[in-house]
Amino acid sequence: MDFHKAIIEFLGIQDVQIEEIWTCTKSMHLKITLRQNRSECFCSKCGLQFDAVKEWVKKSIQGPPMGIFGKVEIIFFQLRGYCVDCNRSGIAKADWIHPEFPSMTCGFAEVAGRLMEETTCEATARLLWTDSMTMWRLDQWRMVLMEKRLVLPENLNVQNLAADEVHFTTIENKKRVGLFAKRHQPLFITNLVSPKHGKVLANAIGRDGAALEECLIKLTPKQLMSVRTFAVDIHEPFISIIRTECRNAAVCIDRFHLAQKVNEAFDKVRRAEFKKAREQKDDFTEGMLEPHRRFILVARESNLSRKEKRLLDKLRDTNKEIHTGMLLVEYFHRALDKATVVSFRKALTAWYLLIRESKLEPFLKLAKLIRKYRAEIEAYIKSGLTTATAEGLNNKIKTLKRMAYGYTNPKSFLRKILQRCGFLNSRHINTNDLFFTVKTP
Ligand SMILES: [Zn+2]
Repeated sequence: MDFHKAIIEFLGIQDVQIEEIWTCTKSMHLKITLRQNRSECFCSKCGLQFDAVKEWVKKSIQGPPMGIFGKVEIIFFQLRGYCVDCNRSGIAKADWIHPEFPSMTCGFAEVAGRLMEETTCEATARLLWTDSMTMWRLDQWRMVLMEKRLVLPENLNVQNLAADEVHFTTIENKKRVGLFAKRHQPLFITNLVSPKHGKVLANAIGRDGAALEECLIKLTPKQLMSVRTFAVDIHEPFISIIRTECRNAAVCIDRFHLAQKVNEAFDKVRRAEFKKAREQKDDFTEGMLEPHRRFILVARESNLSRKEKRLLDKLRDTNKEIHTGMLLVEYFHRALDKATVVSFRKALTAWYLLIRESKLEPFLKLAKLIRKYRAEIEAYIKSGLTTATAEGLNNKIKTLKRMAYGYTNPKSFLRKILQRCGFLNSRHINTNDLFFTVKTP
């Protein structure tokens, strides 16, 4: 292969001649001057070759990084020709120029797009010597295009599934009715997760039954019937949809959601005690029960430092309610640790008794809820599933949100989740053709 031909191929472009190559090792800048091949310039109306050259239009287009040169500038002379048959002049098409982003080649757009599958637009813009706003638009455009090609893998293991909601944003209620109407309303996104693959299969806006149904539509009827266990939060709309859509699945409430519930109950106790301590001007208790200390209180003891443990013991001695609350949390976790349903039931009975004695309102409420969903919790214990992937994914999504400093457009957040944590990326969708040309409808 001759040298010029090789460079043209590396750039992912076609039908051009290299006229000049200029490099600067100080700024790591590579500049290549190209001219369109006359023999490849056709009238867009009749498809025949142009009869005469009207002018060579000079354009500056960014190409993909080459070797050590991060910034590749293509000076392109594009032909504007005259067609005798049509009696018109027009510009010859160059397929490798991106139709939506004419300042870059398709190859550059695809390299940038693949980077943005894993990192921020900001970082990509810095690495590729361009601006972040263009990169953001490119990413959005590319995700929409890829969504059309998205099909879930055929060998997808859907024996176990999980549905989980993540907080998307909180909006202010502009039309409040009544004095006690809520000022803010949180918006959620429902993710359908395959714990086996550690991926989000589908997602939708909202946390109601309709949202989950929208996710489940992405699976085939056969796949829906092959679901054996379905892990969800204690959330009736989800549970009823699963019962109708996945008829062979056992609904199970997994540990992650139960831990959330028990922590919530404990937090209510903490807040009540905090208020009491404040009224009684009990500085030590007040300080220990401050919101930011919550994690010390609910953390398992082995994770605490010696000093934290000492303070905690002091608090336990002085505050009976907190002490009982912590015992109840710990005891509940121990019950969940049980390997068999029989031993879990035994532990749960003892836990109910403790709660009844404690008379702590939040825990009494929790016990009622647990009793109602006991069968589903036992299904979790039987399945022996861990919630590590669900928690890991949730963390990843939260980080994603923070990296973007929050999202305003729900659609783009949905797509971004699928791109980073699902199958909406070039690992699963073949986008190799996009290096060379992009067909616009
Ligand atoms: Zn023509």
